[in-house]
Amino acid sequence: MKPLPIQESLVKNDPAKVETSSGNLVDTFGRVHNNLRISVTDRCNLRCVYCMPEDVQFLNSKELLSFEEISAFVKIAVTKGINKVRLTGGEPLLRRDLSTLVGFLSQIKEIKDLSLTTNGMLLKSQAVALKQAGLNRITISLDTLVPERFLDLCKRDGLSQTLEGIEAGIMAGFQSIKLNTVSIKGTNDDEVVSLAKFAREKQIEIRFIEYMPIGANPWEKAKVMLAHEILDKIDKEVGALVPATNYDPNAPAMEFDYADGKGKVGIIASVSKPFCQSCNRIRITAEGKLRNCLFALEEIDLKPFLRPEINEHEISRLLETNVVSKWAGHQFNSKEFIKPLRTMHAIGG
Ligand code: SAM
Ligand code: SF4
Repeated sequence: MKPLPIQESLVKNDPAKVETSSGNLVDTFGRVHNNLRISVTDRCNLRCVYCMPEDVQFLNSKELLSFEEISAFVKIAVTKGINKVRLTGGEPLLRRDLSTLVGFLSQIKEIKDLSLTTNGMLLKSQAVALKQAGLNRITISLDTLVPERFLDLCKRDGLSQTLEGIEAGIMAGFQSIKLNTVSIKGTNDDEVVSLAKFAREKQIEIRFIEYMPIGANPWEKAKVMLAHEILDKIDKEVGALVPATNYDPNAPAMEFDYADGKGKVGIIASVSKPFCQSCNRIRITAEGKLRNCLFALEEIDLKPFLRPEINEHEISRLLETNVVSKWAGHQFNSKEFIKPLRTMHAIGG
């Protein structure tokens, strides 16, 4: 088998290709921000050990931004160049009538891409409504195909429900369905091959995310299943891989095609090859805190400018302020790294 030049192909981002289109959300490093992640709830029906603690104080529902407030915010954000929106959480499908929000957002003509990240547990009953409301793409998290391990890793029983959710997502006919997998050494790293095969059989892309220090449990770098290790295994045991040519230079994932043309694998190498230099994302938490980085230590509270009434001018100004203050990148490979107080579920992954 021809060896895959894994290390070279992991050097992905050609700065010349990184987005430089118009928009007002440009930081001091010249990065243009057009991508917004919206957390619609901090609640979850799982307790993935790498994401959130077991005993957690959730926000009161009155604290959550309403769908009208979220839509009003997005309408302002699009005037600053935002044109991609992803709904996330916590588990976004726990938010009642999420398809109503999707319907509101899909009416905003500047949004070119409206997507959702979910654990899939509740997707079976919601997939069709979400599709009809205008959702373009779904990413479903799946870390294991072994029921007992699902229980171990996610602290709740739910593999069959998740698998049903994946089927329902496929049947609903979204523009794309992808899987997200966090692979942790000594936990589920022995499933890289079976998960990749599963995705290939279903004709959907799987993306492996390197395990990041943002959960409740103590993170150890030694437990991170690194991008090149994952790719090597898949290349040897599933099918030869070649770097994809038509990748999006602003997307966090590096894309690989199977050489036989039957499928794709993505790698989000946040630890071994951070992609901060091409980051185009901002985030808003479920209670309205604006964050310019997953690992940001500071955030701007937008709720006073959304409730009781919308202050368009101030929100617009704060969006710019927030982006201008963005740092070069996270520091979790250095001693300077400070873990944010919020864990992943309370930020929005
Ligand atoms: N509940 C939804 C889900 O699980 O897909 C959406 C929210 S979840 C926080 C979004 C993504 O973040 C998931 O794919 C999850 O695997 C990923 N994630 C959570 N904690 C992580 C960590 N410590 N390192 C890497 N990815 C993580
Ligand atoms: Fe819930 Fe998603 Fe976090 Fe798992 S990764 S605990 S499903 S928010």
